[in-house]
Amino acid sequence: MTAPDRSHDIHRTSWVASAQGHSDFPIQNLPFARVKHGATPGAIAVAIGDDALLMPLALEAGWGKDLPAGALSVGLSALNVFAARPPDEWHAVRLALSDALSDPAWEARLRPALRPRAELEYLVPFQIYDYTDFYASIYHATNVGSMFRPDNPLLPNYKWVPIGYHGRASSIVISGTPVRRPRGQIFPPAASVPTFDVSRSLDYELELGIFLGGRNMLGKPVPAAEAASRIFGFCLLNDWSARDIQSWEYQPLGPFLSKNFATSISPWVVTAEALLPFRTPMPARGVSDPAPLEYLRVPDDWTVAVELEVTLASEAMRARNDPGMIVSRMQFDQAMYWSPAQLVTHHASNGCNLYMGDLLGTGTVSGPAPESRGCLLERTWRGTEPLTLPGGEVRKFLEDGDEVIFRGICRDDDAIAIGFGECRGVVLPA
Ligand code: MN
Repeated sequence: MTAPDRSHDIHRTSWVASAQGHSDFPIQNLPFARVKHGATPGAIAVAIGDDALLMPLALEAGWGKDLPAGALSVGLSALNVFAARPPDEWHAVRLALSDALSDPAWEARLRPALRPRAELEYLVPFQIYDYTDFYASIYHATNVGSMFRPDNPLLPNYKWVPIGYHGRASSIVISGTPVRRPRGQIFPPAASVPTFDVSRSLDYELELGIFLGGRNMLGKPVPAAEAASRIFGFCLLNDWSARDIQSWEYQPLGPFLSKNFATSISPWVVTAEALLPFRTPMPARGVSDPAPLEYLRVPDDWTVAVELEVTLASEAMRARNDPGMIVSRMQFDQAMYWSPAQLVTHHASNGCNLYMGDLLGTGTVSGPAPESRGCLLERTWRGTEPLTLPGGEVRKFLEDGDEVIFRGICRDDDAIAIGFGECRGVVLPA
């Protein structure tokens, strides 16, 4: 599973006509989601063009007869059990899906298992027990650091240790869920004492989410060479952040209530295997940077070439059918100082047990250019460089009614482009 195969073949097409040339979900992608399905707790679905194949119905129709018994867990109500299976079973399921969806002989049996994706109601794809957020973009860390510490933007630990904090799983919501503006303890610059008030500097953070598969027992680290095999797939992630709450509460233990009021994720989990053609080496470290310590040296390490973008659509813009303004665009693979596998091996290096369905956020993805900054704090430079939206509205931070939309696309000359779909959220008043 370390080299592309027939499921990535650029000539492979599907009998689902809308898959051909689809911007997100051609047959070369085949991401997983969890959807409402009758009276069940949910069903796993696979995107193909404008449709989704509901796995319980596909199994009933006779698909998957040759799969190993454990792989049939792809018919369950959430992805945890399937993601706990070994990667060669993930691979077997991907091949069986790709073969059936490309072979016209399967059309009559599987067409009744398709549903239009637009008509489905999505659920968080895993039962997520733990969520950790990292800080792996060196441009983001440098930008934010320079606002607060102009003389010393990057703290001395940054190039040695992947920085992260434990987030909260209970407030992770699926794309489309409205996000209520939080209240919290705030210390305004001109005030003499803090107050408990509505956040006035609500922000988004564009990140990739990494869903883990497999498990390591407590006390058993994940060696660097095995870390990549723990990565089941990726999604888009919005780490909503209240900057005024954050700036008062974050020292000395890191962010807390400024972050855990909501985290949005996109519904489709794009598998590590679908992303094989888009793997690319990590950017070279600076010549004067320290080499990673031995336990962080991942053999054949990779990141993924994903082009990400942020769109902002105010309530007024949506009312006149304006789909929104792209406010940032960045290359994930050029923004990160630590690779996905390094985040995994570091997290488990002390023996911390990581479980299938655990979610790791990469941290805000910011590139070197102003237009590639992944949150408003950086994009408007703490409000000193406001954005002007079409129609004349001005934004330093998010206003009530604003909708934030993330998208991600992988492109390569030798592969069919695949996408992540969307991660959306509208800000509700406090
Ligand atoms: Mn974050």
